[in-house]
Amino acid sequence: MLSEFDLITEYFNRPRPGAAVLGIGDDCALLAPTPGMQTAISSDMLVEGRHFFAGEDPQRLGHKCLAVNLSDLAAMGAKPVAFTLALALPSADRAWLQGFSQGLFALADAHGCELIGGDTTKGPLNICITIFGEVTPGQALRRDAAQPGDDIWISGALGDARLALAGYNNELALSAQEQDAAGARMHLPTPRVALGMLLASQRLARAALDISDGLVGDLGHILKKSGVGATLDVDALPCGPVLATKDLDLRRRFMAAGGDDYELCFTAPVSSRAAIIAAGAQCGTAVTRVGVIETAPGLRLVDGNGVALALRLQGFDHFAGTAAS
Ligand code: ADP
Ligand code: MG
Repeated sequence: MLSEFDLITEYFNRPRPGAAVLGIGDDCALLAPTPGMQTAISSDMLVEGRHFFAGEDPQRLGHKCLAVNLSDLAAMGAKPVAFTLALALPSADRAWLQGFSQGLFALADAHGCELIGGDTTKGPLNICITIFGEVTPGQALRRDAAQPGDDIWISGALGDARLALAGYNNELALSAQEQDAAGARMHLPTPRVALGMLLASQRLARAALDISDGLVGDLGHILKKSGVGATLDVDALPCGPVLATKDLDLRRRFMAAGGDDYELCFTAPVSSRAAIIAAGAQCGTAVTRVGVIETAPGLRLVDGNGVALALRLQGFDHFAGTAAS
């Protein structure tokens, strides 16, 4: 039988040294912040049956629970430093822990982000990570910084994760190949950390966030916090490769309000255009200009000809219930 402490030692406490002064094993971890830098902190919780299906592959889950946290750092333009892991597990299942820790540490190592502590308890499967990053004062990409005249940009491509969900829920019939390809975007999101850091450190972008609940709803947060409005060209949105084979109405709805995309949406002055394209190329991430920030409040959706679009859309809200009509 695997005890709580054996479990931590065996699967989560790895040989040091890392970035922390003191890692797993004491009452607190100790971090020595880089002098002059600000600490960016974010938590994201993944609950079985809510954020992922029961029986989900543990390796993919290990990747995803850290990826969504790294994505928050990316959205602020912060450099990942360390994270804690609070785990509720129904049982100490070695095969599950092996897969989970592999997926988790593969992504952690790719970003130089060290696991420095956490908590482990028995209970329905629930994974909560708190992540710590660093950003130069004044450079964080905040939601309240968009200005009229800014371009609106999106990293990567949208909609495939939502398409995968539609396949799993039998809203749509997908081939096994389509389900796998779209499912990879849902289960293994790529946090845009390098792009976020470049946008912040080169002062290219003004406001940013990562798209987790659907573009239209999430962009609404920037508009509200910044006291501005926007026009979004729905036909300019970058479409995920699997969704790209589907009909126009579905493409528009799943790109505009799908959810689980973990792409960056950011605003930037027109003078940044060339440098943003160069930054995207430097980190191998597509960047697409999809709209403009305006003084008039509200979000106006238009098609490729600038004609107003009435899409039936709703972002994801845990308490209002799932949406995407
Ligand atoms: P305490 O009871 O003092 O809170 P615990 O006994 O819960 O400490 O944990 C012992 C050590 O193991 C602590 O350093 C804690 O941060 C770490 N830890 C516990 N669970 C995890 C986990 N899932 N991942 C990483 N570290 C963990
Ligand atoms: Mg504890």
